[in-house]
Amino acid sequence: EKYHIRRYGFHGTSHRYVSKRVCEFLGVSPIGKKIIICHLGNGSSMSAVVDGKCVDTSMGLTPLEGVVMGTRSGSCDPAVVQFIANNDHMTVNEVLTMMNKQSGLLAISGISNDARDIRTRASEGDERCLLAFDMFAYKAMQQAGSMIASMAGVDTITFTAGIGENDWSIRKAFCDCFEWLGVRIDNNKNREAVGNGPQVISAAGSAVTVMVIPTDEEYMIAHDVERLTKNN
Ligand code: AMP
Repeated sequence: EKYHIRRYGFHGTSHRYVSKRVCEFLGVSPIGKKIIICHLGNGSSMSAVVDGKCVDTSMGLTPLEGVVMGTRSGSCDPAVVQFIANNDHMTVNEVLTMMNKQSGLLAISGISNDARDIRTRASEGDERCLLAFDMFAYKAMQQAGSMIASMAGVDTITFTAGIGENDWSIRKAFCDCFEWLGVRIDNNKNREAVGNGPQVISAAGSAVTVMVIPTDEEYMIAHDVERLTKNN
């Protein structure tokens, strides 16, 4: 209350567009549906949507909270800030700049924040690049796991943004973590769902529908502008 701190979430335009498209594409009502959106790009965030409304997000007051990102660490023990500041004689602002701009995939891989560069080196066996993807998928899985618990279930998991739309290996690594929940992806569909529009990539009989939906924030903004100008 004192500081008016609140969770802003971020990437809301993308999450709103994609969660809407999930139901349109499947031809179902959002009412009664529990959806997780994985917006995985240079900035990554996840949202939990129930009855068409966002009930949980991975980013907080700032975009630093949540999963591992291109240059952001994502969540970690807040005392890390004090530890690094004391050890390296840095200010809090300097440590937070490091956690926002020099961490995440960039720091773990040691080469780049660009998933394509890391994928190339990982396929050559570079251990730090392999670790970067393992950590990326693991933290996303942890976040989704907590959202599944808070929603008491999940009907649909949807991937979007640069990595979510294009990197089938990350999608597979993430989904394999949820085999215990009955999540099954169709490996062929998953590999083929790269830059070719909305797709269902789960296998027949999967307990959860898994999808890839390209985000379209520009469309959502234009749609909102039209709605607001018509109402006024
Ligand atoms: P975004 O922030 O949504 O633009 O996503 C940027 C991230 O998506 C970068 O890490 C890119 O390397 C990654 N990305 C874009 N295209 C591809 C691709 N074809 N395969 C793997 N990653 C990709």
